[in-house]
Amino acid sequence: MLKPNNPYVRNANLIGGDWVAADNGATIAVDNPATGETIGHVPQSGRAETIRAVEAAKAAFPAFSKTTANQRAAWLRAMHAYMLDNQQALAEILTMEMGKPLAEAKGEIAIGAAYLLWFAEEARRVYGEVVPSPWGDRRILTTLEPVGVVAAITPWNFPSSMLARKIGPAIAAGCTSVIKPASQTPYSGLAWGMIAEAAGLPKGVMNIVTGKASEIGEVLCTHPDVAKVTFTGSTEVGIKLMQMAAGTVKKVSMELGGNAPFLVFDSADIDRAVAGAMAAKYRNSGQTCVCANRFLVQAGVYDEFCAKLAAASDALKVGNGLDDGVQQGPLIDAKAAAATETFVADAVSKGGRVLAGGKRHALGGSFFEPTVIADATPDMRFAREEIFGPVSPVFKFETEEQALAMANDTEYGLACYFYTRDLGQTIRVMEGLKYGIVGVNEGIVTTPEAPFGGIKQSGLGSEGGSQGIKEYLSVKYICIGGLGL
Ligand code: NAP
Repeated sequence: MLKPNNPYVRNANLIGGDWVAADNGATIAVDNPATGETIGHVPQSGRAETIRAVEAAKAAFPAFSKTTANQRAAWLRAMHAYMLDNQQALAEILTMEMGKPLAEAKGEIAIGAAYLLWFAEEARRVYGEVVPSPWGDRRILTTLEPVGVVAAITPWNFPSSMLARKIGPAIAAGCTSVIKPASQTPYSGLAWGMIAEAAGLPKGVMNIVTGKASEIGEVLCTHPDVAKVTFTGSTEVGIKLMQMAAGTVKKVSMELGGNAPFLVFDSADIDRAVAGAMAAKYRNSGQTCVCANRFLVQAGVYDEFCAKLAAASDALKVGNGLDDGVQQGPLIDAKAAAATETFVADAVSKGGRVLAGGKRHALGGSFFEPTVIADATPDMRFAREEIFGPVSPVFKFETEEQALAMANDTEYGLACYFYTRDLGQTIRVMEGLKYGIVGVNEGIVTTPEAPFGGIKQSGLGSEGGSQGIKEYLSVKYICIGGLGL
């Protein structure tokens, strides 16, 4: 149980600078997936609280949007420093509500902080343009202005860093925000309010409401005073939010689901490919949008890759993320473990060969064994669906053309990976893959300096990189005449 007086824990909404309960006092229980224990309760808010949060963000916007880039960069740097100074405590809360190993949780806090620092730097480079004018007596300027109130809705799998990618550019650009964290992991979301307070961010600039997704989401996507909706989560929910946001023509950014292929060619360094596969698959117990979902391996190295991947999967230490040396925690809940089981059962019923794991872990609860399934075929469910669990299906291919066709045969287009030591193949495959993010001989590629985002049904827009802040800015064209020229 998180201690009620834990200085890092907030059990209330943050609206206009005040920490407040839901209007009717209702709460949601938050459970630790490793132990099943309820660790605390947060407000079960709905429409009314969300409307007040939007009003608070709207009221804070005029003054905040006029602050200088240097001031906003200073707030972001202070938030960055606070996160690193308190990394251990913030990571422990994250592990307790989400389950990931403490080392991964500390990494998540660190990369979230790194996003803030990146956007602190970007804030000072929001340049407009002086455009050569077609008229001798007029001048043309463009400026970039903050879009206004931003609504941010985030998932449970990276409950801290998914917000960093939205809060960082929103503050850098001069936008105010209303945040709705996932109900299963609200403490890492509410901690952002504490981080903002510690850095002295003005009241109302960041507002946070926890509670009923459908009510909060509806207000955020339809309220005329919300200018932009930025969402990370499933494609299914993202589509609903886009449809609602269309009614008032809001700007939208969508970071949605994936079905990442991980290709290993005959020319690859197999040990490097296996190390990359372990990172790309089992990080966060397979619960990331960029997790390898399908391993596509060329016939000449198929058996070697399968054997090495199975051995490495068997060697992973599974347990409570707070315990020393644990490399894989539980899945988020019992439903997720049951869903993972159905992927395995489906594959086995269609001829899949289990080389490692294959069932719930002896630890019980939502723990699941790291699993490798060889002889995967296109009719198995994971060929099309996001697994979101620690299951590695390995498909065999013969030619590069076949591999590209298999890799691109999905409605998703977020991340993909491939391993080769052939230069020509590197270029051909890199150009042939229809994805927003490509890792070549690398299994983890996320960094604040690079744009993160998908194509096709994996989303719209980029987070991070020089592109990230632009999602929070609108362009104004100014034509100046009457200059007496
Ligand atoms: P989800 O079910 O779509 O939920 C994400 C967020 O949306 C949560 O805060 C949830 O609230 C909220 N939500 C659910 N229904 C809603 C509605 N009708 N209106 C408004 N908000 C609603 O996704 P998830 O299961 O938490 O996360 C896993 C998914 O996220 C996967 O598909 C994964 O690939 C994707 N993801 C994508 C990226 C990326 O960058 N592309 C990154 C991480 C995850 P409650 O928690 O209260 O239900």
